Amino acid sequence: MKLDKKVIISGNIKALTGLHIGGSGQGMAIGGADSPVLRDPITNIPYIPGSSLKGKMRSLLEKITGKLPIKNGKAEPCKCGNCDVCTVFGVPAEADSKLPGRLIVRDAFMKPESADILDKSNNTDMPYTEVKTEVTIDRITSKANPRQIERVPSGAEFDMQLILNVYDEDDLNSLLNTVETSLKLVEDDYLGGNGTRGYGQVQIDITGISYKDESIYAGDNVAQKLEA
Ligand SMILES: [Zn+2]
Repeated sequence: MKLDKKVIISGNIKALTGLHIGGSGQGMAIGGADSPVLRDPITNIPYIPGSSLKGKMRSLLEKITGKLPIKNGKAEPCKCGNCDVCTVFGVPAEADSKLPGRLIVRDAFMKPESADILDKSNNTDMPYTEVKTEVTIDRITSKANPRQIERVPSGAEFDMQLILNVYDEDDLNSLLNTVETSLKLVEDDYLGGNGTRGYGQVQIDITGISYKDESIYAGDNVAQKLEA
């Protein structure tokens, strides 16, 4: 098994509704929202972690392919090692297979144009974001619990980059189809939190597919357009 080429899939992720991808820094947001979004520590601009997008792509694909084993009442990722899902997304480390997952999902950073608009907007509550109060009702006491959720406003766009490692025995078109299907499934689902309340609807457009093979790595490292 030999790595034949690296296929680079570039695209655009647009938030059609407010997007909440939470960080872990609950205690850090002093004076901020109860539930802050994840931000790049250098630029302070919210981004979409590759792990969030990849996890969503995989779990939705597992649902439609039926590759979603239920163990002790809990859905678990497929570990079979031969299905399309395992081929593209890999198998969990504890599984028996040495098969490498083909797909790398990069962190998606906000496009400079979107960051610029939000930076200059007078309608943001915090840098680049809005804060929305969601009220949940305690079923027993009937007490309302308002919670402030931070979100990236609709309209913000992010640069997507996926890398597909294609081996000599792989069917490139089949791998690309699997990736494209999983991206379409994300469009009909949501990214981040509070999706059932309308958050996280995204539009994902693939804007370019190119590849690099070993001759390129030996030379000037410029990707070639994929003729597929
Ligand atoms: Zn599998």
